[in-house]
Amino acid sequence: MTDSLEGTKPQYDVVVIGSGLGGLTAANMLAKDGYSVLLLEHHHKLGGLATWFKRKGGHIFDVSLHGFPYGMVKTCRKYWTREMADCITQIKGIRFDNPQFSLTTTYDTNDFKRTMQDYFKVPADTVDSFVTTIKNMNFYDEHTMTTREMFDKFFPGRDDVVRFLLEPIAYANGSTLDDEAITYGIVFSNFLSRGVYIFRGGTDKIIGMMEAELKKNGVDIRTGARVEKIVVEGGKVAGVVANGKTIKARAVISNANVKATVQRLVGEEHFSKEFAEETRKVRLNNSSCQVYIGIRKGETIDYVGDLLFTSVADKLDAQMLRSRNITSRTYSFYYPDIRPGSDRYAIVASTNANYEDWAYLPEDEYRASKQDLIESTLDALERYVPGIRNKADYVEAATPKTFERYTLHPNGTSFGTKFEGLRVSMGLNEQVPGLFHTGSVGIIMSGWLGAANYGVIVANNADKYLRP
Ligand SMILES: Cc1cc2nc3c(=O)[nH]c(=O)nc-3n(C[C@H](O)[C@H](O)[C@H](O)COP(=O)(O)OP(=O)(O)OC[C@H]3O[C@@H](n4cnc5c(N)ncnc54)[C@H](O)[C@@H]3O)c2cc1C
Repeated sequence: MTDSLEGTKPQYDVVVIGSGLGGLTAANMLAKDGYSVLLLEHHHKLGGLATWFKRKGGHIFDVSLHGFPYGMVKTCRKYWTREMADCITQIKGIRFDNPQFSLTTTYDTNDFKRTMQDYFKVPADTVDSFVTTIKNMNFYDEHTMTTREMFDKFFPGRDDVVRFLLEPIAYANGSTLDDEAITYGIVFSNFLSRGVYIFRGGTDKIIGMMEAELKKNGVDIRTGARVEKIVVEGGKVAGVVANGKTIKARAVISNANVKATVQRLVGEEHFSKEFAEETRKVRLNNSSCQVYIGIRKGETIDYVGDLLFTSVADKLDAQMLRSRNITSRTYSFYYPDIRPGSDRYAIVASTNANYEDWAYLPEDEYRASKQDLIESTLDALERYVPGIRNKADYVEAATPKTFERYTLHPNGTSFGTKFEGLRVSMGLNEQVPGLFHTGSVGIIMSGWLGAANYGVIVANNADKYLRP
């Protein structure tokens, strides 16, 4: 077996653990600032959950490229490259189909207001006041109101409106009615500003561009490198142990889950009792299931929208959204223009999922449940793509166990932690100088944009710490 750490230096300014969008962005910024940076990723590919895979028959599937806010253009332009920013393109067909309503929107401010007023008959001043409220939400305000209370205030008794508002965000970051209203408000207003965007060229292209940029800026990148321990000496970060090898560093930025960082990589004994207790109380966010459907070469599918939120449940129900008894699915339709030059189509169906529903099944039951997930997804899709079973020649499913295996995230969490995780993430350096965390946490800092932007914030904090 080759040694993926062969030739590493004995010491770096910064070691970044994990190559999700948070870790990649932090590594890039610090390298551009002139620091020596080692990036360690346990998987053989960079990107973390921003990933893709290829299968025989010429199929290529994107795992988390369903849609992100326009802010990603600025983030790519400012902290990566203009070429990357130029590949970002709007998807216009955001479609909803459930027992309460069936409509298509671009999900930007104007179309949102029009839909709320014309379709849902909500008075214009109520819509305006709701939009103003969420646009003015500030992280530093008090957060006592839940999303449920906020919706009750603006749209009492309107569970159809609540479904229209919450369902996409529940898929985008695991948000529920009982989470702090700010976690909904910040993410929703990010999307609302200009609608929903994706990266033309696919996840393979953006991660390839990021890798090239990191190399250009001098980052030492190692895949197949699993960090087992963050070394603390004299109360400060001193380095890491990866694949059994000790590498010294002045600072460590962990892109692993924040609870895993404290409990598995550093060890609770290096934190105050109160901080360790606070970390224990942090709730993980939900995980996901996906079904990847590859369309046979030469076959086509008619345009049915880009993102389709479907449900057969009478009302929106957070438990039902994650249940193994699936009633709601989001489909991403990938037409050939997502990868210019390609003539292929693919469909990815996503559902939120509970880790416990999948993790402890005996092997044969697990396999049968995955097959069941595939069959029920194809049945449900038939309504939108007639003849789907004849058009598809490759189908595969992922469960919370799959996400756990590839990212090492506890319970295969798709979006980090609930809101309280952010405080823990931001407090690490005060507990153990030189220790930082970046990536999906606190709901707000999740998704492609949230993770990348948090990478920027944390790189700035690490720079302050490292600067002589
Ligand atoms: C099914 C699904 C669909 C999604 N769809 C969207 C979407 O449409 N739009 C959107 O904006 N977001 C979406 N997301 C969320 C988005 O992909 C993530 O929030 C974001 O990519 C996470 O970035 P991150 O920086 O938190 O790191 P992650 O992607 O979580 O990566 C962390 C990395 O750290 C590595 N690592 C962990 N521990 C170690 C260790 N000990 N040693 C070495 N390496 C380690 C892991 O292998 C991994 O590569 C989706 C997520 C899922 C699961």
